Amino acid sequence: MPNYEYTCGECGKSFSQILTLKEHESGEVVCPACKSKNVEQKPAGFYAVTSKKS
Ligand SMILES: [Zn+2]
Repeated sequence: MPNYEYTCGECGKSFSQILTLKEHESGEVVCPACKSKNVEQKPAGFYAVTSKKS
């Protein structure tokens, strides 16, 4: 399952969540520290995404 990185907009904590695509699309991500739903997904792609290498 994909691992998503988030930063909380309330308390500023960074955390990662392993979500199914359905969970991700439903947007049910809350900050584990303050339970806020005001979380921002970090741009993924450094290590998790395989890009095409021609
Ligand atoms: Zn928080």
